[in-house]
Amino acid sequence: MLQNPTDLARAALLKLTEQGLPPTPENYTRFYHELAGNTEAITPTQTANPDCGYLLSIIRDMMGEVAERTGNLASDIQNQNQTIKSSIDDLSQAQEKKRMLQLLGTILTTTTSIHSTVEDAHLDLAATKMALEHIKSELKESRLLIQEDWLTGAQNRRAMDQVLGKEVVRAQRSATKLCVVMLDIDHFKQVNDEFGHDAGDKLLQHLTLIIKSVLRESDSLIRYGGEEFLIILPETDIRGGEFVMGRLQQTFQKNSLIYEGKSIQVTFSAGLARLNPGENGHAMVMRADAALYEAKHAGRNRIKIAAE
Ligand code: GH3
Ligand code: MG
Ligand code: MG
Repeated sequence: MLQNPTDLARAALLKLTEQGLPPTPENYTRFYHELAGNTEAITPTQTANPDCGYLLSIIRDMMGEVAERTGNLASDIQNQNQTIKSSIDDLSQAQEKKRMLQLLGTILTTTTSIHSTVEDAHLDLAATKMALEHIKSELKESRLLIQEDWLTGAQNRRAMDQVLGKEVVRAQRSATKLCVVMLDIDHFKQVNDEFGHDAGDKLLQHLTLIIKSVLRESDSLIRYGGEEFLIILPETDIRGGEFVMGRLQQTFQKNSLIYEGKSIQVTFSAGLARLNPGENGHAMVMRADAALYEAKHAGRNRIKIAAE
């Protein structure tokens, strides 16, 4: 029975290829568990909703394998280069035609072997890349199903309608307070332009973690658009909302993202609105959005409260 995760991942990949199955997370999961002798682990829910942690461990194993293979490739080529080099040295010394032909033969065999080693490695890497692309798109799809934004792990727009609807009904029914915040990163385009799109993505993930760290369990964070987030604060009045946002502003200022050794310091603007009696969720969000617009116009890096 295989134990080592890298061997298991490799064997699972091989089995998929043998059976002509696409390398989807579900198929990996099935073979990985089968090979590990772990049959109970395959429950219907797991198959429908692959566990992200598990997928990540497969990805990590695959990358370990790629690193091992490229390391082996480099040392193989180095050895073969050494053979060519010493054959060429000998060639320049050789006097006899027979010896020269022998050395030329060695050089030819070695270069052909380098060629096929590189070609094999290329095919291996292309297969790994394809498998990773599949995992990435499956992850996107499963996150959509589970109402999560695939990049940041915040909730997505699909989740927003449900959460907002539920919270508005609850607040109206129990006459409790409810606030929403519309937040937008200031000059985010400049981050992409100056540091690259990947840095922009990392900044969105970084901000998500910071927002989550200042929110309560019962609050919700939704990625509303590109660099725009909606925060839902149940049982919170305007003062409470201002308090949370002030704390977020401070935390975000103190913890800038370090990307490739450089600190990316940005600010955000926000609009805060409290649910009016009889108002619906959409109207409240629109008021928060108008307040955000005002915050931008007033010079950014500030929080504006929506008119009632
Ligand atoms: P403002 O202060 O007025 O909000 O300026 P801004 O630059 O933040 O706003 P603008 O609307 O001009 O630009 C938003 C940028 O966000 C443009 C778009 O390419 C980028 N963006 C949207 N979604 C993503 C994403 O998922 N990743 C990255 N890296 N960039 C994104
Ligand atoms: Mg912006
Ligand atoms: Mg925006």
